[in-house]
Amino acid sequence: MIDTVQSKKKPKQAKVILAVSAHPDDVEFSAGGTMFKFIKKGYEIYFVIATNGENGFKIKDQPAKSRIKIRHDEQLKAAKILGVKKVFFLNRKDCFLKYDDKLRKELGLIIKKIKPEIVFSFDPSNHSFESVNVLHRDHRLIAEAAFDAVFAARNRYLLKGEPHAVKQFWFFGCDKPNYFENITAYINDKINLIKAHRSQFYDNESMSKWVKEHLSNYTKKYKYSEKFRIVNISQPFTKK
Ligand SMILES: [Zn+2]
Repeated sequence: MIDTVQSKKKPKQAKVILAVSAHPDDVEFSAGGTMFKFIKKGYEIYFVIATNGENGFKIKDQPAKSRIKIRHDEQLKAAKILGVKKVFFLNRKDCFLKYDDKLRKELGLIIKKIKPEIVFSFDPSNHSFESVNVLHRDHRLIAEAAFDAVFAARNRYLLKGEPHAVKQFWFFGCDKPNYFENITAYINDKINLIKAHRSQFYDNESMSKWVKEHLSNYTKKYKYSEKFRIVNISQPFTKK
Protein backbone atom coordinates (compact mmCIF):
# COMPACT_ATOMS: atom_id res chain seq x y z
CA MET A 1 0.00 0.00 0.00
CA ILE A 2 2.74 2.38 0.96
CA ASP A 3 4.50 1.55 -2.31
CA THR A 4 1.39 2.45 -4.29
CA VAL A 5 1.05 5.76 -2.53
CA GLN A 6 4.69 6.57 -3.10
CA SER A 7 4.60 5.66 -6.77
CA LYS A 8 1.71 8.05 -7.34
CA LYS A 9 3.64 10.92 -5.84
CA LYS A 10 4.76 13.52 -8.31
CA PRO A 11 8.54 13.97 -8.39
CA LYS A 12 9.40 17.10 -6.43
CA GLN A 13 9.89 20.00 -8.81
CA ALA A 14 13.22 21.76 -8.35
CA LYS A 15 13.07 25.42 -7.49
CA VAL A 16 13.91 27.50 -10.51
CA ILE A 17 15.65 30.83 -11.11
CA LEU A 18 15.60 32.77 -14.36
CA ALA A 19 18.29 35.40 -14.88
CA VAL A 20 17.39 37.82 -17.67
CA SER A 21 20.18 40.02 -18.96
CA ALA A 22 21.13 42.11 -21.96
CA HIS A 23 24.64 40.80 -22.67
CA PRO A 24 26.79 37.76 -22.07
CA ASP A 25 28.63 38.42 -18.75
CA ASP A 26 26.01 40.74 -17.12
CA VAL A 27 24.86 38.12 -14.62
CA GLU A 28 28.38 36.94 -13.85
CA PHE A 29 29.58 40.47 -13.04
CA SER A 30 26.44 41.41 -11.12
CA ALA A 31 25.33 38.24 -9.39
CA GLY A 32 27.81 35.41 -10.09
CA GLY A 33 28.60 34.67 -6.44
CA THR A 34 24.92 34.69 -5.51
CA MET A 35 24.17 32.27 -8.35
CA PHE A 36 26.72 29.81 -6.93
CA LYS A 37 24.96 30.03 -3.56
CA PHE A 38 21.56 29.29 -5.12
CA ILE A 39 22.99 26.32 -7.03
CA LYS A 40 24.32 24.99 -3.73
CA LYS A 41 20.82 25.33 -2.25
CA GLY A 42 19.50 23.08 -5.06
CA TYR A 43 18.02 25.64 -7.42
CA GLU A 44 17.97 25.14 -11.19
CA ILE A 45 19.23 28.20 -13.01
CA TYR A 46 18.35 29.36 -16.53
CA PHE A 47 19.79 32.35 -18.38
CA VAL A 48 18.24 34.60 -21.00
CA ILE A 49 20.75 36.70 -22.95
CA ALA A 50 18.90 39.25 -25.07
CA THR A 51 21.69 40.55 -27.32
CA ASN A 52 24.73 38.93 -28.84
CA GLY A 53 27.12 41.29 -27.09
CA GLU A 54 29.17 41.69 -30.25
CA ASN A 55 29.91 45.38 -29.69
CA GLY A 56 31.36 45.05 -26.22
CA PHE A 57 34.65 43.60 -27.22
CA LYS A 58 38.06 44.42 -25.85
CA ILE A 59 40.34 42.09 -27.75
CA LYS A 60 41.44 42.45 -31.36
CA ASP A 61 39.08 43.61 -34.11
CA GLN A 62 37.11 40.90 -35.88
CA PRO A 63 34.02 40.73 -38.11
CA ALA A 64 30.68 40.84 -36.27
CA LYS A 65 29.92 37.20 -37.05
CA SER A 66 33.02 35.93 -35.30
CA ARG A 67 32.55 38.35 -32.38
CA ILE A 68 29.06 36.90 -31.89
CA LYS A 69 30.43 33.35 -31.95
CA ILE A 70 33.13 34.22 -29.41
CA ARG A 71 30.63 35.81 -27.05
CA HIS A 72 28.18 32.92 -27.31
CA ASP A 73 30.97 30.41 -26.70
CA GLU A 74 32.19 32.39 -23.69
CA GLN A 75 28.66 32.53 -22.28
CA LEU A 76 28.20 28.78 -22.70
CA LYS A 77 31.56 28.17 -21.03
CA ALA A 78 30.57 30.31 -18.03
CA ALA A 79 27.16 28.61 -17.89
CA LYS A 80 28.87 25.23 -17.75
CA ILE A 81 31.17 26.33 -14.92
CA LEU A 82 28.19 27.56 -12.93
CA GLY A 83 25.94 24.62 -13.80
CA VAL A 84 23.22 26.55 -15.65
CA LYS A 85 20.52 24.25 -17.08
CA LYS A 86 20.04 26.21 -20.31
CA VAL A 87 20.94 29.53 -21.91
CA PHE A 88 18.26 31.13 -24.08
CA PHE A 89 19.95 33.42 -26.64
CA LEU A 90 17.47 35.93 -28.08
CA ASN A 91 20.03 37.11 -30.67
CA ARG A 92 19.25 40.84 -30.72
CA LYS A 93 21.90 43.25 -31.96
CA ASP A 94 24.13 44.55 -29.18
CA CYS A 95 23.41 48.21 -28.28
CA PHE A 96 20.28 48.16 -30.44
CA LEU A 97 17.91 46.20 -28.20
CA LYS A 98 14.29 47.18 -28.81
CA TYR A 99 11.67 46.74 -26.17
CA ASP A 100 8.65 45.67 -28.18
CA ASP A 101 5.76 43.21 -27.81
CA LYS A 102 7.89 40.50 -29.42
CA LEU A 103 10.54 40.74 -26.70
CA ARG A 104 7.97 40.77 -23.90
CA LYS A 105 6.24 37.76 -25.45
CA GLU A 106 9.47 35.77 -25.83
CA LEU A 107 10.38 36.43 -22.22
CA GLY A 108 6.87 35.73 -20.96
CA LEU A 109 6.73 32.39 -22.76
CA ILE A 110 10.10 31.36 -21.33
CA ILE A 111 8.78 32.23 -17.85
CA LYS A 112 5.67 30.13 -18.45
CA LYS A 113 7.78 27.26 -19.70
CA ILE A 114 10.40 27.04 -16.96
CA LYS A 115 8.25 28.41 -14.09
CA PRO A 116 10.81 30.35 -12.06
CA GLU A 117 10.23 31.24 -8.45
CA ILE A 118 12.71 34.14 -8.73
CA VAL A 119 13.58 36.36 -11.68
CA PHE A 120 16.90 38.20 -11.68
CA SER A 121 17.43 41.21 -13.92
CA PHE A 122 18.62 44.80 -14.02
CA ASP A 123 16.64 47.21 -11.91
CA PRO A 124 13.95 49.05 -13.91
CA SER A 125 13.79 51.75 -11.22
CA ASN A 126 17.39 52.86 -11.83
CA HIS A 127 17.46 56.43 -13.05
CA SER A 128 20.61 57.86 -11.55
CA PHE A 129 22.50 57.87 -14.84
CA GLU A 130 25.71 57.94 -12.87
CA SER A 131 27.32 55.05 -14.72
CA VAL A 132 27.34 54.67 -18.49
CA ASN A 133 28.05 50.97 -18.02
CA VAL A 134 25.35 50.08 -15.49
CA LEU A 135 22.79 52.39 -17.09
CA HIS A 136 23.56 51.08 -20.59
CA ARG A 137 20.49 51.44 -22.81
CA ASP A 138 20.20 47.66 -23.30
CA HIS A 139 20.27 47.17 -19.50
CA ARG A 140 17.49 49.74 -19.02
CA LEU A 141 15.34 48.16 -21.70
CA ILE A 142 15.78 44.53 -20.68
CA ALA A 143 14.96 45.52 -17.09
CA GLU A 144 11.58 46.89 -18.16
CA ALA A 145 10.88 44.02 -20.52
CA ALA A 146 11.66 41.41 -17.83
CA PHE A 147 9.45 43.24 -15.34
CA ASP A 148 6.54 43.37 -17.80
CA ALA A 149 7.06 39.77 -18.91
CA VAL A 150 6.53 38.63 -15.32
CA PHE A 151 3.14 40.36 -15.41
CA ALA A 152 2.31 38.87 -18.82
CA ALA A 153 3.23 35.35 -17.64
CA ARG A 154 0.84 35.49 -14.69
CA ASN A 155 -2.02 36.70 -16.88
CA ARG A 156 -4.42 34.19 -18.40
CA TYR A 157 -5.06 35.98 -21.68
CA LEU A 158 -1.88 37.74 -22.77
CA LEU A 159 0.11 34.66 -23.69
CA LYS A 160 -0.60 31.04 -24.55
CA GLY A 161 -0.38 28.47 -21.80
CA GLU A 162 -1.20 28.25 -18.12
CA PRO A 163 -0.32 31.36 -16.11
CA HIS A 164 2.73 31.28 -13.89
CA ALA A 165 3.25 33.58 -10.91
CA VAL A 166 6.87 34.50 -10.14
CA LYS A 167 7.34 35.15 -6.42
CA GLN A 168 10.32 37.51 -6.28
CA PHE A 169 12.46 39.86 -8.29
CA TRP A 170 16.14 40.18 -7.44
CA PHE A 171 17.22 43.32 -9.27
CA PHE A 172 20.96 43.73 -9.77
CA GLY A 173 23.05 46.73 -10.76
CA CYS A 174 20.67 48.68 -8.54
CA ASP A 175 21.02 52.23 -7.23
CA LYS A 176 19.04 51.53 -4.09
CA PRO A 177 19.85 48.04 -2.80
CA ASN A 178 17.87 46.60 0.08
CA TYR A 179 19.92 43.41 0.41
CA PHE A 180 23.59 42.42 0.33
CA GLU A 181 24.52 38.81 -0.35
CA ASN A 182 27.71 37.74 1.40
CA ILE A 183 29.80 36.12 -1.33
CA THR A 184 33.16 36.16 0.47
CA ALA A 185 33.44 32.36 0.28
CA TYR A 186 32.62 32.47 -3.45
CA ILE A 187 34.82 35.32 -4.63
CA ASN A 188 37.26 33.02 -6.46
CA ASP A 189 34.40 31.06 -8.04
CA LYS A 190 32.91 34.33 -9.26
CA ILE A 191 36.23 35.47 -10.69
CA ASN A 192 36.64 32.11 -12.47
CA LEU A 193 33.20 32.59 -13.97
CA ILE A 194 34.13 36.04 -15.27
CA LYS A 195 37.39 34.65 -16.67
CA ALA A 196 35.27 32.65 -19.12
CA HIS A 197 34.34 35.99 -20.72
CA ARG A 198 37.88 36.47 -21.93
CA SER A 199 37.02 39.03 -24.62
CA GLN A 200 35.78 41.48 -21.98
CA PHE A 201 38.97 42.42 -20.14
CA TYR A 202 42.66 42.81 -20.87
CA ASP A 203 44.20 40.46 -18.32
CA ASN A 204 43.12 38.27 -15.44
CA GLU A 205 45.09 40.16 -12.84
CA SER A 206 43.57 43.59 -13.41
CA MET A 207 40.09 42.10 -13.78
CA SER A 208 40.38 40.20 -10.47
CA LYS A 209 41.66 43.31 -8.73
CA TRP A 210 38.81 45.40 -10.10
CA VAL A 211 36.17 42.83 -9.08
CA LYS A 212 37.55 42.53 -5.55
CA GLU A 213 37.79 46.29 -5.05
CA HIS A 214 34.32 46.78 -6.41
CA LEU A 215 32.63 44.12 -4.30
CA SER A 216 34.31 45.18 -1.07
CA ASN A 217 32.71 48.64 -1.22
CA TYR A 218 29.04 47.76 -1.04
CA THR A 219 28.78 47.12 2.70
CA LYS A 220 31.18 47.00 5.63
CA LYS A 221 29.35 43.91 6.92
CA TYR A 222 31.01 41.49 4.49
CA LYS A 223 34.41 41.34 2.87
CA TYR A 224 32.85 40.76 -0.56
CA SER A 225 29.17 41.10 -1.41
CA GLU A 226 26.74 41.53 -4.27
CA LYS A 227 23.92 44.03 -3.99
CA PHE A 228 20.28 43.63 -4.90
CA ARG A 229 16.89 45.22 -4.60
CA ILE A 230 14.59 42.34 -3.74
CA VAL A 231 10.92 42.84 -4.48
CA ASN A 232 8.28 40.39 -3.33
CA ILE A 233 5.50 40.07 -5.86
CA SER A 234 2.14 40.08 -4.15
CA GLN A 235 -0.32 37.35 -5.14
CA PRO A 236 -3.66 38.86 -4.15
CA PHE A 237 -6.04 36.40 -5.80
CA THR A 238 -4.36 33.00 -5.58
CA LYS A 239 -6.61 29.95 -5.30
CA LYS A 240 -6.96 28.41 -1.85
ZN1 LIG B 1 25.76 44.46 -20.18
